[in-house]
Amino acid sequence: MIKRYIVEVCRELVKKKLTHGSSGNMSVFLRDKGLVFITPSGIRYIDMLPEQIAVLTLEGKQVEGDYKPTIETPMHLTIYRNRPDVNAIVHTHPVYTSALAIAREPLPPVTEEFIIYVGGTVDVAKFGGAGTQELADNVLEALKDKKAAIMPNHGLITVGKDLKEACFINEVVEIHAQMYLMAKIFGKAFSIPEDAISRWKKVYYQRTRIKEY
Ligand SMILES: [Zn+2]
Repeated sequence: MIKRYIVEVCRELVKKKLTHGSSGNMSVFLRDKGLVFITPSGIRYIDMLPEQIAVLTLEGKQVEGDYKPTIETPMHLTIYRNRPDVNAIVHTHPVYTSALAIAREPLPPVTEEFIIYVGGTVDVAKFGGAGTQELADNVLEALKDKKAAIMPNHGLITVGKDLKEACFINEVVEIHAQMYLMAKIFGKAFSIPEDAISRWKKVYYQRTRIKEY
């Protein structure tokens, strides 16, 4: 059931042009069972089958599936170990956010709703090679208590209490990256003012209960 759902969501992401081919990866953590369901390495989303989804323990031991899990498995496991509010992770290579990743430019809160959903500026993580623990630690640091981070020269990672939320945040960030870059064509792009940021950050904490741990 959950494996089929993951495959369906992957195809949705391709349709929405948030990712393409086999690039990116996603996972769901069933916290009560201690199991991580994660996409396999190198299989195109349009060809991916539910039985190819790998099932791992939080320590990374594969307990189900004959296919190797994504190279970015350390990043997924590190986030689940350190963020009790996160039960799903979506990593994509969407065009506008990836352009910011190449420029190594953070995405500031340019609308009020952005804070409510994402929690604040989407920071650029320090560089780490694909699949390394270094990248995993750097991404965790950039995420802080928020729901998105930019992977330098790479792409976008978003997290959520479930897969639906992690995908939604992925879309929210990419649309805002597009709006931000379009505004920059006019020579300026303003972040919302500080008092509005702190007002909506309170709402973010109320929604996510992140401040409780
Ligand atoms: Zn990637």
